[in-house]
Amino acid sequence: MKSLTYLDYNATCPIRAEVTSLVLNIMGEPLNGSAVHSLGRKGRQYIEKARAQLAKAVHADTNNVIFNSGATEANNTVLKHFEKGGVLVSATEHPSVLQALETVTIIPSTASGQVDLNALEKLLEAEKPALVSIMIANNETGIIQPISEISKLSRKYGAFLHCDGVQALGRIEINMMEMGIDFLSISAHKIGGPQGVGALILGLCGETPTLLNGGGQEKKARAGTENIAGIAGFGLACEIAEKCRQEYTSKMHQLRTTLASELIKIKRDIFIYGQDCEHLENTLMFHVPNISSQTILMALDLDGICVSNGSACTSGTVKPSHVLKAMGASDEEASSAIRISMGWSTQEEDLHKFIKSFKKICDRI
Ligand code: PLP
Repeated sequence: MKSLTYLDYNATCPIRAEVTSLVLNIMGEPLNGSAVHSLGRKGRQYIEKARAQLAKAVHADTNNVIFNSGATEANNTVLKHFEKGGVLVSATEHPSVLQALETVTIIPSTASGQVDLNALEKLLEAEKPALVSIMIANNETGIIQPISEISKLSRKYGAFLHCDGVQALGRIEINMMEMGIDFLSISAHKIGGPQGVGALILGLCGETPTLLNGGGQEKKARAGTENIAGIAGFGLACEIAEKCRQEYTSKMHQLRTTLASELIKIKRDIFIYGQDCEHLENTLMFHVPNISSQTILMALDLDGICVSNGSACTSGTVKPSHVLKAMGASDEEASSAIRISMGWSTQEEDLHKFIKSFKKICDRI
């Protein structure tokens, strides 16, 4: 890891040292949050502390935080609960939303990557769905959705609003009450916490979607022995991310601005997605005309640089990014975009290494 340059934070993020040490410490004891004995009580304390840390970060009621295995589970839990009543999802959602149900209605995106609000209103009027599911910020492009406006529209037509907040947590403010979010999915491993732990947070709507039944854990809303070490690590990661958020945002803004101007210097015809609307400062997705993203990714990898493309690669075949396609990109554009995503341990030097290597690759090709 030391010799690698990691610029793929939207996929997963290095765990913070303080979190690792807390997690390892807790894993050394047989804690079980449901037991009556002292180790049970100790386990419960860790869970309840983390519940309060998460609730504070997103302005929710502590009792409304339900821990689970991650955002894929949280997204599936909410969508399956509302399946019968009808669900609208935006075209740029993560696959864990798009593929949670057999049938959903897709809300089209504008060319700038935000939900088409006119189309949303027409669909709400025509279909009277039970749920609208729209992510706060996109994992590929970093584009931020106008959640408060979407919430007002959804409410006007009697639909609940679910938001996948995975990429937004710790990067922009999430105020569930002010934004009018009824259900929020979040995940620990995008903010310096451990993998395999996440949460579904309920707003004030009074519905409790449940996917797993069995033991009465997590207020009977999510059965299964709690991953106490993971939950405690999530709580700590969340607290640190929130504490550092403003400083982090300005650092990311500075790094992203440098990166954008250097990219254009290397190749004038590079197109950067999301420049004309609100976007996450840690994410920069761009398209290099006439050079395949696979070629670039492999060449960067040889130089020890880890970045991603938006396209899914299954069995050696590159599928164009559904996010870019929804924004009107051609197959060629949607198959050849590169995503740089930065995070808490990214330094200017990482970007310099990337820029140097990328320039060398472009010159050669
Ligand atoms: N939603 C978004 C926007 C994501 O980026 C991801 C992770 O890639 C997920 C959901 C799934 O999260 P998890 O890995 O916690 O299941």
